[in-house]
Amino acid sequence: MSKPIILAVDDDPQVLAAVLRDLRPRYAEDYQILGAGSGAEALEAVGGVQERGRTIALYLVDQRMPSMTGTEFLLEAQTSFPDAKKVLLTAYADTEAAIQAINDVGLDHYLMKPWDPPEEKLYPILDDVLADWRAATPPPFDGVRVVGTTWSPATHEVKDFLARNEIPYRFLDIERDEEAAAMAAAATGGSSELPVVFLPDGTTLVRPDRRALAGEIGLHIEAARPFYDLVIVGGGPAGLAAAVYGASEGLRTALIEREATGGQAGTSSRIENYLGFPKGISGADLARRATAQASRLGAEIVTAAEVTGIRAGDQVKTVTLSDGSELSCRAVLIASGMSLRKLGVPGYEQYEGAGVYYGAAATEAATYRDRDIFVIGGANSAGQGAMMFSKTSSKVTLVVRSDSLAAKMSQYLVDQIEATDNIEVLLGTQVLEVTGDQRVEKVRLRNTITDEEYERDGSALFIFVGAVPHSEFAADTVAHNEQGFIITGPDVMVGGKPASWNVDRDPYLLETSVPGIFAAGDVRQGAVRRVASAVGEGSVSVTFVHQYLTTV
Ligand SMILES: Cc1cc2nc3c(=O)[nH]c(=O)nc-3n(C[C@H](O)[C@H](O)[C@H](O)COP(=O)(O)OP(=O)(O)OC[C@H]3O[C@@H](n4cnc5c(N)ncnc54)[C@H](O)[C@@H]3O)c2cc1C
Repeated sequence: MSKPIILAVDDDPQVLAAVLRDLRPRYAEDYQILGAGSGAEALEAVGGVQERGRTIALYLVDQRMPSMTGTEFLLEAQTSFPDAKKVLLTAYADTEAAIQAINDVGLDHYLMKPWDPPEEKLYPILDDVLADWRAATPPPFDGVRVVGTTWSPATHEVKDFLARNEIPYRFLDIERDEEAAAMAAAATGGSSELPVVFLPDGTTLVRPDRRALAGEIGLHIEAARPFYDLVIVGGGPAGLAAAVYGASEGLRTALIEREATGGQAGTSSRIENYLGFPKGISGADLARRATAQASRLGAEIVTAAEVTGIRAGDQVKTVTLSDGSELSCRAVLIASGMSLRKLGVPGYEQYEGAGVYYGAAATEAATYRDRDIFVIGGANSAGQGAMMFSKTSSKVTLVVRSDSLAAKMSQYLVDQIEATDNIEVLLGTQVLEVTGDQRVEKVRLRNTITDEEYERDGSALFIFVGAVPHSEFAADTVAHNEQGFIITGPDVMVGGKPASWNVDRDPYLLETSVPGIFAAGDVRQGAVRRVASAVGEGSVSVTFVHQYLTTV
């Protein structure tokens, strides 16, 4: 297998030599390092790489070259290798050009010259962008195969679970691939149970549940210790941030996640407003980075394990998992987030996972390439979903209940949607029914202003219509509001001290109605429901955990 290529481009021979000198010791084992002395020479090299069937992972290009600037080169080069990462080498005066290049060519990073010492100023940045490139570029295939049908909810669930846990797989559709149909028939003894998952070691799993699948593909599914200082329920941004701070500040920390780390944010196609990522970051990348960071700092991350109950003793809390096992700890953080509300109209249930999806379901973008789809909802997540699908689907119809897009959506998204030709916005509109034969074919709509009812053709609905908190497992333990969102801090005392509050102090800011049990992120009453606020709450909750631990 030939190595992917890093192409460095600089018209100053001394600078080019210095770049190559610094790149080789760090990256030559995994990448071939090439250099070019001008944009034209580099474009020729790109053509050669393409002819030989090789791939470019990273361009590291000087901005200020006389005949062709770095940005001009990247604009041309990206047509050949659109997924290659792009880093500009700039001088102080080029900063504006570099920021412009973030929009023009999707620049991943810009570095100031000189980059000495490379251990501090070059390698961390290139390590990051190359890790992103590797995550988005699966190696040649010899891994997990999922055999099923595109329209089956069980197949969708398995594909989604593997994708969200970053396990590369190949999907084989028995309706299009006779060999795959024969493999499935042999594995199931002719029964129609699908999907069948084939693992590289020869193991075959017929319609596996999440836990069985997680165990077989090598995810960490059981806690290693019986006792922790802090157990975190949920691995979304709030839980991951708490794991990073808890573990780095010396608490024995376990994070229990029932699906895949990243939570709702992990399903987002692009988060544009999280600080520090000028180009935006995909939810999957953010989840991968945060999970790696929490693990590196010593947090134990247990996946495909669901928390089903919490018992609160004065000194020790007990967390029960769905397999019946129990973990003891001194403090608990509930960071279990929420889900988007179900559609609740006739017909939708039978198509769940087979034409009706909750959230952006990025894994389905390829299935609905060149088809007409609907996005239901009027807030930012719906807007982002519409923008993502507009790149692959032929038409996106955004169905919004209120009569203004700006009512709940950020202006930058409203502007993007209005400037996108293949998005149609239906304001003041409600979904009445979803119909079709084996799959979604039509959606019945009502104009709430004129009362007119009509049908539109479409292959899928992506739903973003409100939220349900994941707090059932703690419903008997901590106080929550009518919708189930957990009450914290000063709100706990509104209406009088609850019976569960048995200490002589007020609750800390993120503490629930039980001393030592905290809540952070979207599951909390009054949460702002943004990645940054979930991360902020998860991080500061650890400060309150420390304060609590000094009192027991
Ligand atoms: C499609 C989409 C796009 C979005 N885009 C943006 C954006 O661009 N910018 C922005 O700021 N915000 C965005 N948001 C909102 C943001 O993602 C959320 O506010 C944030 O993820 C909340 O984090 P959290 O950790 O509180 O909860 P969640 O992200 O909901 O994570 C909770 C986790 O807990 C797990 N869990 C639940 N119950 C249990 C249990 N019993 N046992 C074990 N684990 C459990 C869940 O599986 C989940 O992984 C978006 C949301 C969505 C859905």
